[in-house]
Amino acid sequence: VVTVIGSFNIDHVWALPTLPQVGETLAGTYHTGPGGKGFNQATAAARAGARTAFVCALGADAGGQLARSLAGADGIDLHAASSDAPTGTAGIYVDRQGRNSIVIGPGANASLDADFVRAQAGVLAASTVVLAQLESPVAAVAAGFELARANDAMTVLNPAPADADLPPDLLALSDLITPNETEFCAQLSRHHGERLVADTVAALDDATLHDHCRKLLPQGSVIITLGAAGCFVSHAGHQLRGDERAFYRVAAAPARAIDTTGAGDAFNGALVASIAQFPDRSFARHVAFATVYAARATESAGAAESMPHLAPDAD
Ligand code: ADP
Repeated sequence: VVTVIGSFNIDHVWALPTLPQVGETLAGTYHTGPGGKGFNQATAAARAGARTAFVCALGADAGGQLARSLAGADGIDLHAASSDAPTGTAGIYVDRQGRNSIVIGPGANASLDADFVRAQAGVLAASTVVLAQLESPVAAVAAGFELARANDAMTVLNPAPADADLPPDLLALSDLITPNETEFCAQLSRHHGERLVADTVAALDDATLHDHCRKLLPQGSVIITLGAAGCFVSHAGHQLRGDERAFYRVAAAPARAIDTTGAGDAFNGALVASIAQFPDRSFARHVAFATVYAARATESAGAAESMPHLAPDAD
């Protein structure tokens, strides 16, 4: 079982010629659909073939109803705290060049608490991997990771969004973190005062990147996702099994990308789905599957809706 602890949002997306300026009124093409990093990643894990549970908080409103019915349709075992706040929302403007401006209304997501997560001990104890992001309160994620650790489950933290707080205690509870370039630079700066520019990360040499990863998570693995440039993988020495390499790059899979929002969510969900279904496979093979899965996810529009039905090959 994969358990995802995280957010559910109703995304409201407007496609516009340009992003609106202060005081300006524009007409755009509107689309609404399910999102939130947690739900996107849970949907990806389920569609990548893993038995998947999703721990979240929902409002008593139409958004909460939608989350329940979508989870049901994908066979996701939903563990939702009921909140008095409205279900999470995101307002997203996208211009013709694909640039965006986003406003999040955390709503119910902000009320997910550690006690509710601890009360889901049954499903957490049955999990091979527990995956979380930083759109939910840190205390709730930490409670889930503590239970995971107590039951020998692997803990995977996608430290997104970049401006979210990531306390050292939560980092220490993580076996693997999966930042994109921006998130990696933000946390390296926050924890070690190291000033890297996100756009230059992919161009750094592998040994330097590995050193930075070791500094950020000495006891665990790091995957820095690099968009169309693929990803960089770095392991702590004690994690290496057999002939596994300490660090390497994986090129992105070819894709006719039309919408890369949610590529990172696809990657994370697929990665943990592969680990949960095939625990004996090499880490590199899980990363290879996540890479193919994420590429496929960029070929259709939408967040949770764009997750492909694609499971790892059985041997
Ligand atoms: P995020 O969405 O969190 O910013 P990235 O943009 O780094 O994450 O994308 C995550 C992964 O998705 C990458 O490591 C890569 O494997 C895949 N990916 C992203 N963009 C493309 C693309 N244009 N073509 C193929 N694969 C892509």
